[in-house]
Amino acid sequence: MPEDGFQRCEKQGIAYYTCRALDQVPGLSHAFSTRHGGVSPLPDKALNLSRVSWDSPQNVEENRRRFFSALALRPETLATLCQIHSSEFHIINGAPHQWNPGTPGDALITRSPGLALAVQLADCFPILAADPVTRAIACVHAGWRGTLGGILPNTLSGMVQHFGCDPLRLLVAIGPGIRSCCMEVGEELAPAFKQACPGISRPHPANLGKYLLDLPQALKLQAAAAGIPEKSVFDLGMCTRCRSDEFFSYRAEGAHAGRMMAVISWVLGDGC
Ligand SMILES: [Zn+2]
Repeated sequence: MPEDGFQRCEKQGIAYYTCRALDQVPGLSHAFSTRHGGVSPLPDKALNLSRVSWDSPQNVEENRRRFFSALALRPETLATLCQIHSSEFHIINGAPHQWNPGTPGDALITRSPGLALAVQLADCFPILAADPVTRAIACVHAGWRGTLGGILPNTLSGMVQHFGCDPLRLLVAIGPGIRSCCMEVGEELAPAFKQACPGISRPHPANLGKYLLDLPQALKLQAAAAGIPEKSVFDLGMCTRCRSDEFFSYRAEGAHAGRMMAVISWVLGDGC
């Protein structure tokens, strides 16, 4: 079940989650997709929103069309990245057709209306951020590498530096991802996390030499360190691996996993 700050929506057969605090920002559209409502196989009606070897480009295009239609957004406004588990963000100004989706990086920031910022995921965490006053919005992709590298604090600080966002006003929503119940890593990673985010790794209770990482907790600590009040950080609280009936999970499904999308955009005009 999602935490109180979120709701599960179903429109035009597409299931997705939204954060209530972001829902209340006038003119803002956002969503965290699920695996339901598309045309992709494996098993069927899968909403795979990214190019993967087992799916056809036509399916992905139709899935994106359906997802964006449910959100009253236009697919041609979509801006994505070539995600590389880095700590690098990009600022986009202007029209979406001027943006190269092959740009390497893991977060996007804009203030332009009519640009739907999106990241693609299957276990890594999506984070959406918005400042209702300056109207800067951001979309972040954070797995363990990006979290360790500081992709979230870098992006939040980019919003402050480039658009004058006040951290006290920023709203931050953490979507579905692999949580501490399932995020197992080798002991070689534990020291780095102990140093960067104390308290978020613990020895695996059953697998000797393995550790469990609490990435959402690390992201919350990083948001707090960036000056975001605790009450403005929302966590969906759902694990993609435990809930592979609802979400795609790379660790649960391997190479056959689809990809979900987290998207955030200012809506152009009335109902877009
Ligand atoms: Zn889990």
